[in-house]
Amino acid sequence: MISPLGMWSTEPEISEFKRKKAMRLVILGGPGAGKGTQAQWLCLYLRVPLIPTGDLLRKAIASTTDSPSQSDTLTVLGHQARQYVEKGELVPDTLMIEFMRQRLVQPDVSEGWLLEGFPRTAFQAEELDFQLEDLEQRLDWAIYLQVPESVLRERSLGRSRFDDQPDIIQHRIALFQERTLPILEYYSHRQRLLTINGNQSPEQVQQEILQKLKG
Ligand code: AMP
Repeated sequence: MISPLGMWSTEPEISEFKRKKAMRLVILGGPGAGKGTQAQWLCLYLRVPLIPTGDLLRKAIASTTDSPSQSDTLTVLGHQARQYVEKGELVPDTLMIEFMRQRLVQPDVSEGWLLEGFPRTAFQAEELDFQLEDLEQRLDWAIYLQVPESVLRERSLGRSRFDDQPDIIQHRIALFQERTLPILEYYSHRQRLLTINGNQSPEQVQQEILQKLKG
């Protein structure tokens, strides 16, 4: 199979992973760390569905303007999350945890998944573990893409998302440091943290993730 980034991988390698068991992963990193790119590749590679909370929230917000009077779950979430996402604030834990509680019981994610952008606070990380315990599941690895702050800023400025304006980016980086970095300690303590040098080419990041996943 050819990955989206044009490298890797052979069928035997994939089945080696798949034979072991369903993978349950989270990918962590600041804004612009490369989470989206790596998550997409990894999902194709491992054949697990991607649950990208930031993308899902942006879609939910878009649906509030496309069809403002609709009351489906996505549109309701969009109305509740809009004020936070637009300012680069974190959506309240209660809202995100409830959203994940509903998402993780869907049949398409019973055989593994990759969460991108969740958890983002220590509280979310703990709640995720509680939810998984109820489902008799377990997180395999938290993959942390480590990238210097100056690079995060530079990369985010190069994008054209509505929440990628300079002052909002700075705020999101600060929130990442305050609220998300403590999660690393949580996972490291539980021997579930894989730290990857995210300040290299996407292909090199891929290789490092794969090497470390294989152990
Ligand atoms: P991202 O695309 O992951 O950078 O997320 C974009 C925005 O969505 C963030 O700045 C937050 O406002 C919101 N968001 C995404 N995931 C979460 C989460 N797990 N907890 C709280 N807010 C989130």
